[in-house]
Amino acid sequence: MLEKEVAIIGSGIIGSFIFNTLTLNGVDCVLIEKGEDVAIGATKANSGIIHAGYDCAENTLKAKFNVEGNRMYEEIATRLGEKIVNCGSLVVGDENSLEKLTILLNRGIKNGVKNLEILNKQQVHKLEPNLSDNIHFGLYAKDAKIISPYHFCISLVEEALINGGVLKLNYNTIKIEYVNNIFILDNGQEKIKAKYLINACAEGVNFINDLLNESPIDIRFTKGEYMLLDNSEGNLVSRPIFPLPTEKGKGILVCPTVHKNIFLGPTAVDINQYETSVNYESLSTIKAQVVENVNNINFKKVIKLYAGVRVKTNDDFYIEFSKNKPNYLVISGICSPGLSAAPAIAKYVLEQLIKKGLITKKINPKKRKPYTNILSLSNSELNTLVKKDANYGEVICRCEVITKGEILEVLNGPIKNLTTDGIKRRLRTTMGRCQGSFCYPKLLKLVSNFYNKHEKEINFKGKSSLIVNDIKEGGLYENK
Ligand SMILES: Cc1cc2nc3c(=O)[nH]c(=O)nc-3n(C[C@H](O)[C@H](O)[C@H](O)COP(=O)(O)OP(=O)(O)OC[C@H]3O[C@@H](n4cnc5c(N)ncnc54)[C@H](O)[C@@H]3O)c2cc1C
Repeated sequence: MLEKEVAIIGSGIIGSFIFNTLTLNGVDCVLIEKGEDVAIGATKANSGIIHAGYDCAENTLKAKFNVEGNRMYEEIATRLGEKIVNCGSLVVGDENSLEKLTILLNRGIKNGVKNLEILNKQQVHKLEPNLSDNIHFGLYAKDAKIISPYHFCISLVEEALINGGVLKLNYNTIKIEYVNNIFILDNGQEKIKAKYLINACAEGVNFINDLLNESPIDIRFTKGEYMLLDNSEGNLVSRPIFPLPTEKGKGILVCPTVHKNIFLGPTAVDINQYETSVNYESLSTIKAQVVENVNNINFKKVIKLYAGVRVKTNDDFYIEFSKNKPNYLVISGICSPGLSAAPAIAKYVLEQLIKKGLITKKINPKKRKPYTNILSLSNSELNTLVKKDANYGEVICRCEVITKGEILEVLNGPIKNLTTDGIKRRLRTTMGRCQGSFCYPKLLKLVSNFYNKHEKEINFKGKSSLIVNDIKEGGLYENK
């Protein structure tokens, strides 16, 4: 039986940040995920914005942790070697928008947001030349930033792993015993014992609550669908462009990613069950709304549609210890701005656990080495690398220019048994304009050789998604 001080269930940005923070404070912990990889829930499909914090209602956990989290991100990104772009954000509006923008500005000031300013037409168009002519004002939040949310999450987990944390993937808890204030989790094959248990399962929060005979939390789902444009469109806007917010949320944006793509979205569609399909009507809604604020959007350059689901609990984040089991912490309703708030939530969780008797100790953390990115190397650096290892000269994914050497590095990284989707989220293989049409066969061969398995046994995502099902009959295997 694996024995740990703290067990965290759910490896989205919340569980992963907590795992990282506890591990770097010398706490012996395990991160448990039912899926095949970390960051496969809402953390995989969101807008990637570290909001400044003007949007959250005053005196809420959302406001507090958003503003605090925003200030923590840059240092953590530098430590991890993660990309972070300090681009700021703009909420834009027509000639009648000044009053609403002023409300946002004042709320931001009350929430403790710094560097907020309302720009006039000339200033806002100078900042973003592709704004539509009907845009007269903009709330400029200089402290907003963008990151790659799933990549950040992966790096947090990797850093924790090289510093002694343990990750259990594909761990489906079917039973939890609670005896003498100790939790014993069981998936039918392996038991995990812990003094403290943290439920960071988002959409799955009540499954774990149920195993512990705890009352269910009232959760609701709102889906957000996106259209992603090719990186040839990367100059369309330089920062997230929000419309005026509505009671449905922050609205549909035009927004750059750290990889120089542009996304349009997300929608906000209430759904009864957690699911991530994209529907035609929503795409029409996105198109109609974004052209109101931004000109020159080339919809022919859409390369991908995807969706993420916000899990909501009332109007605020829910972070509470159980009344019956004092060392069981339930974290729920971490919808937007959960990504922005995550480091501050993790810090708060650590403080709360210390109040409950958790002991921390100073460690000398080992530094995570970011994966090689040949595009960031100079010609001479690349030449030296290729001379040392010819795999860095063999391009597998030609849209994103990713080599065999880079893929092998990831396959040998701290998180084992990656699927091809896992490789994609670390390196961007198959994420370019061909969306894998050219590189998938090469990637498949490389991965199957690495694992010494037949290509037909390689998974795209979880166990039920063999790639051979995704390739037309008479294709890859018939001509071998
Ligand atoms: C469309 C959209 C746009 C957003 N944009 C932004 C933004 O720009 N900025 C921002 O700050 N926030 C944004 N958010 C919010 C942000 O994405 C979420 O707050 C954050 O990702 C929530 O992280 P999480 O760890 O709580 O949940 P998740 O990422 O969903 O992680 C939960 C994990 O728990 C696992 N799990 C579930 N049940 C079990 C179980 N029984 N056992 C083990 N594991 C289990 C799941 O597989 C999953 O990996 C957005 C959200 C959406 C949907």
